[in-house]
Amino acid sequence: MELGTRNTQPVTRNAYLATRNAERQGERMNYCSNCGDTVKFSTPTGDDRPRYLCESCGTIHYENPKMVVGCIPEKDRKILLCRRAIEPQSGKWTLPAGYLENGETVAQGAQRETIEEAGANIQILGPYALFNIRYVNQIYLMFRARLIDENFKAGSESTEVRLFLEEDIPWDRIAFTVIEKSLRLYFKDRPTGSYPFYIGDIQSKKK
Ligand code: ZN
Repeated sequence: MELGTRNTQPVTRNAYLATRNAERQGERMNYCSNCGDTVKFSTPTGDDRPRYLCESCGTIHYENPKMVVGCIPEKDRKILLCRRAIEPQSGKWTLPAGYLENGETVAQGAQRETIEEAGANIQILGPYALFNIRYVNQIYLMFRARLIDENFKAGSESTEVRLFLEEDIPWDRIAFTVIEKSLRLYFKDRPTGSYPFYIGDIQSKKK
């Protein structure tokens, strides 16, 4: 990441919001979200890595990985998948998952995302897989879940929600590597009836 440069332009509300959004995505920051002044990118005293620093108000903008929570909803041996209505990977299929919100437990977050994206009633059964995705600074935690009924419907981020038998999973149209890995792991464990907790890494395809 390059060093932040001093920017003498006045801070507009749009610039401020752009900075906040960039901060949320772990991207470059230009303006302090506390006071609106420009920030620089350097190592604070006593720290071991560079951070975005605001010399006006003294705020150090720490950036840490984002937590994504989701689940694998199953009913009658079928898995619920959502077809994405939004980028990235619009038109491809995914499991219900999204960013954990402040004030939520991980299980509550997975349940909320399932309601938002699929309108689906689920019972969380247990934590199943954790994936470090260091190149985008995300941690995915996937739960196993029981789909309670079939009264699901696509939410605003989905164009379609469907149940798939294992043999019908559209493997060539799964949105993300982490989702494909979760499903493959699940179908490997399912015949054994035992779902030991898994921790793995997702590597960048670019490397
Ligand atoms: Zn500041």
